[in-house]
Formats: sequence, structure tokens, C-alpha cells
Amino acid sequence: MRDPRHDVLFEPVRIGPVTARNRFFQVPHCTGMGYRDPSAEASLRQVKAEGGWAVVCTEQVEIHPTSDITPFIELRIWDDSDLPALEHIAARIHDGGALAGIELAHNGMNSPNLTTREPPIGPVNLPVATWGHDPVQARAMTKSDIASLRGWHREAVLRSLAVGYDLVYVYAGHALSGLHYFLSSRYNSRTDEYGGSGRNRPRLLSEILADAREAAAGRAAVACRITVNELLGDDGITRAEIEEIVGELAELPDLWDFVLGSWEDDSVTSRFGPEAGQERYVRGLKKLTTKPVVGVGRFTSPDTMARQIREGILDLIGAARPSIADPFLPRKIEQGRAQDIRECIGCNICVSGDFTMSPIRCTQNPAMGEEFRRGWHPERIRPRESAARILIVGAGPAGLEAARALGQRGYDVVLTEASRELGGRVAAESRLPGLHTWRRVIDYREQQLRRMANVGTYLQSRMSAGEVLEHGFDHVVVATGASWRRDGVGRWHTRAIAADGSPQVLTPDDLVAGRRPAGPRVLVFDDDHYYLGGVLAELLAGEGYQVQLVTPAAHVSAWTANTLELVKIRQRVMRAGVVVQPNRAVVRLTGAGAITGCVFTGEQEAAEADAVVLVTARLPAGELYAELHARAPEWADAGITSATAVGDAWAPATIAAAVWSGRRYAEELDAPAPDGPVPFRRELTALAPRGSPAPG
Ligand code: ADP
Ligand code: SF4
Repeated sequence: MRDPRHDVLFEPVRIGPVTARNRFFQVPHCTGMGYRDPSAEASLRQVKAEGGWAVVCTEQVEIHPTSDITPFIELRIWDDSDLPALEHIAARIHDGGALAGIELAHNGMNSPNLTTREPPIGPVNLPVATWGHDPVQARAMTKSDIASLRGWHREAVLRSLAVGYDLVYVYAGHALSGLHYFLSSRYNSRTDEYGGSGRNRPRLLSEILADAREAAAGRAAVACRITVNELLGDDGITRAEIEEIVGELAELPDLWDFVLGSWEDDSVTSRFGPEAGQERYVRGLKKLTTKPVVGVGRFTSPDTMARQIREGILDLIGAARPSIADPFLPRKIEQGRAQDIRECIGCNICVSGDFTMSPIRCTQNPAMGEEFRRGWHPERIRPRESAARILIVGAGPAGLEAARALGQRGYDVVLTEASRELGGRVAAESRLPGLHTWRRVIDYREQQLRRMANVGTYLQSRMSAGEVLEHGFDHVVVATGASWRRDGVGRWHTRAIAADGSPQVLTPDDLVAGRRPAGPRVLVFDDDHYYLGGVLAELLAGEGYQVQLVTPAAHVSAWTANTLELVKIRQRVMRAGVVVQPNRAVVRLTGAGAITGCVFTGEQEAAEADAVVLVTARLPAGELYAELHARAPEWADAGITSATAVGDAWAPATIAAAVWSGRRYAEELDAPAPDGPVPFRRELTALAPRGSPAPG
């Protein structure tokens, strides 16, 4: 039975000429699939629709070759040849029962046009505002360019309608869309009627909205996705300005979609912002229009969602990440199963797919991105195909997911864990500053396992190879994790770090287990480059240690550029008083601390420290696996047919990779081996017909 307080979430909402069946709205989000993997994208979106989202949108769709954001892979609607892919996506969304939305975008001075080699265009002559500092400038748009842009947008609307979209976006958000640059005073210093004053800057948006309305002609709704705050004070789009714009253009679109003015702020991770973090920027805007408004806030709590509606902040509950972590979130609330929601942990591994131009992945939902190519589903898995009994050793993210998915298939499973708690590295790391929400990886699986009579869980049960052989399981899964190296081996040092004397050496495992530096001065050597070096520096500084962080990279936690956290981590670490030494490596340990060297010149200096924390690389805890395989001749007598290592015990990687690895084991048990070396379906680019014109 559904909680009656959540009934409000299931009211239909009229959006111009169409009606959303409830208030759940999957806002546009990238997938790293786009024009390269459109069938994969279609399956992904269909699953969301099936999961109960009333509106399911595409990511941004480039409307013209002057809007080419290569290397990022989004969708394109440059001409009719792009339509079959877009039609397929819309059809699959409809198959799932949702309205299909398309986010039409011209990226303006955010598109370096590396593929098309068209000169970028923007409100003024300025270098392109891209992540990669591409050495190219946008050209100030002439009146004729403005007329062309309006024409391209119109054509894109007409094409979208022709292939079945119910809702077309005009995108003016995130400092990623060309229209954002027209709105913002820091970019738009034009002196004609399209720039300068607060009255002039929204003119182009207003014209394109009116064009879209006219082209849609009541056959599809028009949405306006707009930056409501750049969080730059008077240097960027301000609250006062946005109130004026929304007030002025109030009834022009059929829907307002409010976002913050940088993607980093809009998709803030749980380390830097809570659920519903956008509320204070969005509250009060709804009263400026009679049209429905949608906004996001990493909403996973139905109570918080219902409050957004009751308090008149939003009409539609927007979600990108919560819909990635749990495509069936609306259905679960509808069916009174809110406790089954696989809550987003706010880690932004999903975002990293976009930045690495690879298909989207998710820490919580290992089926994300695998719907088409491997046929995985976030909620369903085929029943067991044998009466095999399975022993899983180690209850970290890999072991937990393997147990959950095998349990769901109906196998008899025993999960043993050496420590007193479930979760492995997640249990430990979620006690570090800012990472508490990551516990949801454990909470969801623990909650599911509790209900499975066919899965037995045993804590404080360290298993040796001898014990495994005694028990007589058909299959053994070794999910024993990995431990951080104490010898400094990693990317920079591929052999043990040199030492003439040594300060106290600590690893991340030591720190999460509660060990602390012997004296006040600590040097953290981060050669891992994901979150942990920065988090541990923050932890120690917060406890009063004098911390210096040495890293061969140019940035603290350099890989977090892919999770939108790079700047926020640097700010936090610096504000905590950590002395950051980028582009340096620890070259030698000494009795007084360490010698560090510049990665470019080799110039060295002494760094005094009572303790050195080495965040370099991990080694799989592979002893059990190795011993089991060494005793393979005893398997037949023990009834064992396979022993497989998964997760970090096989190859240390992210938590997302460990969860995925556990799921893969469960999916592939008793499945026929793949035909060839590629274990998934691929989408291959079509070759040009033979006889195409030769160069020259
Ligand atoms: P992963 O990320 O691959 O899931 P983790 O390091 O998070 O790996 O988790 C591994 C878990 O396995 C830890 O909780 C650890 O206590 C447990 N473990 C390691 N060796 C054994 C063993 N021999 N018997 C039972 N549990 C083990
Ligand atoms: Fe949420 Fe992380 Fe999954 Fe993204 S990858 S949806 S942030 S759990």
C-alpha cells in the first residue's frame, strides 16, 4: 500500500498540449552513448519509462554542425540522417509508457567544433569556454548568424516532432548552452539589442522560445531549461535578473526547468551538498508563472519530494542521478515499496562516463549502461538454471552484489565475512569526511538480503582454503578485496620507494582502521589521484595535524575532474590548511621525513614529517584464491566445480567496478559461454558504399 502522503506525486500534470501521467520527470542527462550507441541509449531510456517516469528526456542534442562538442558524445540532429536514431529512442520511450522529451541545444561558445572545424559562434569574440581550454575563439555573431541560429532551432523542432517527441527543449543552462552565454552579463557585452542591458540579454532566448512554440504548433510542449543562478554574485546571472526574465517570459514556454549555472553546482556530489540543495535557489520562482516547473536535487526521499510539491517549490520532481541509480524509483513509491529504492549515493561515477566518452556506469545500479549490450535489467534477472550452491567469501561491494543477485535468481548462497560488519571498503570509507552517503551501497543490499531465505550471511567468519574445501559448495566466489601498498609502488614508482631511514609509514587502510600519525607533521603522498588522498588530507587536517599533500599530478585528486569535484576538493583541502605541492613526488623516505622532487626538473628538497601516508596502489587480497587453485586436485572430492575471484580481489578498481563485477558473476553463472571474444552486443558504424568519391 502506498503511503497516502505520497499520493500527490502521482497526480497527472498538464504540460501545454501533453499530460504527464505523474510528477516524476527524468530531466535530460548525458549517457556517454549518444550518436555512437543509439540502440543502447534507446534501451536505457525505455527502462526508465518502464520504471514509472512520466517524462523521459534525451541528453543534449546538437542542432547544427556549428554546435559540435567533440570529444563529448551526445546526440545530433544536424540533418535528416540523424533522425532514425532519434526516432528509435522516442519510440522506445513510448513503449515504456512515458512522454519523450528532446533537449535541443546549440552550444555556442562551448563548442570547439573539433570534428566539423566550423568556427565557433558566441555573443562576443572570446576564447571558447570549454573544459579542455581548446585553442580556438568564438566569433561574435552577426545579425545574420542570429537569424540562422533561429532557423536551425526551428528546423530541429520540426524534425523532433516528425520523429515523435512530445516535448522539445530550449536549452539555456549550465554555462554549456549558447543561450546561457547570451543571458550572462559576464559573457554578453554586445552593444546591439541582443546584449548589454538586462532587457536585451534575454531577447534571443525569448525569440527562440517563440519560434519553438510556433513550430511546435500545439503538437508538442516547449520546455525552457534555464540557469537560475551562476553563484557568482553580480558577476554572473543573479536572482534579481532571473526573476525578471522568468517574470517576463513567464507564459512563453509550457514548462520551466530550473538549473544552476555550472554543471558542478547543479550535479553537486554528496561530499559537497545535500539532497534538495537547489531548493533555496528555486524557491519562489514558481509563483512568477502559471506554467509547471521542474527542478532537481538528487531526490531519493519520497517525503522530500512530496514536500517540494506541497510547499509550492516544484510541480514536477526532476531527476537525473536518482533515475540512474534506480530507474524504478517511481514504481517503487507507487507500490508502497520505498524501502526498496536503490538510492543514489551522489558519487558522480555516472558523470565520469561523459568525461571519459564511455558508456554510462553507476555505482549503485550495475545494470546502467548494460541494458542493450548485455541485456541486464535493474530489477529483473533470469531464474537459476541449476541447483548449485554458492559460497561467497567477503562481503564488500562485490560480494554483497553477487549474493544479492544470485539470491534473486534463486540460488542457495552463503556469504561469509571476516569482520564484524558488512560492506568491506565501503563500510570503512563511508566513515571518512563527506562520504557518509556512500553507505547506501551497503544499506540497499543488506536490506534486500535480509528478505532472502536462500541467502545466509555470516559475520566474523574468516575462511581459509581448508575450510572452503571442507564445506562442499559447487561454486566459490572469492570477493576478499584488496589492501593498500606500504612500499610506495604505484604509478610514479613501479618499484619500492627508496629509503635511507624511514618516518612512520601509514596507508589508507591504517587510517580508516583508526591508526594515527605519531607526531603532528604528516606528508600525504597521493599517487592514486582519485578521492582518497584528498579525503585523508582533509581528515588529518581536521584533526589538527599539519598536513602537506604531495602529488605528481597538477591537481589534488586529479581524476575527480571526471566527477565534477576537482575545484571543490581543492577549495576544501586548501581551506582546511593543507599545504598542496602539485607536480612533485616523494622520491625517498628518510629518518626526518622524505625527499620530494619536481616531476619536471628533478630538483629536490627535504620535507620534514613525522609520518608519511602512502596513497599509491593496492594489491589484491588474492591468497585465498591462489591457495584454492593450488589445491584444485582436491576440488572434485569437495564437490567444487569453480572458484572465481571478483571485484578488488581480482583487480582493484572503483566501488562501481566491484559492484558490477559481483553482478557480472551472478548474471553469467550457468549461462552459455559467449561465441567469441566480445561478450556483448556492439553497434558498428556503417561503412560508406563502395565507389564513394576518392580524395582529390
Ligand atoms: P570489493 O570492493 O572487491 O568488494 P572489499 O575490500 O570492499 O572488496 O571487501 C572485501 C571483504 O572481504 C572485506 O570486508 C574483508 O573483511 C573480507 N574478507 C577478506 N578475506 C576474507 C576471508 N578469508 N574470509 C572472509 N572474508 C574475508
Ligand atoms: Fe548516483 Fe553515483 Fe549512480 Fe551517479 S553513479 S547515479 S551519483 S550512485
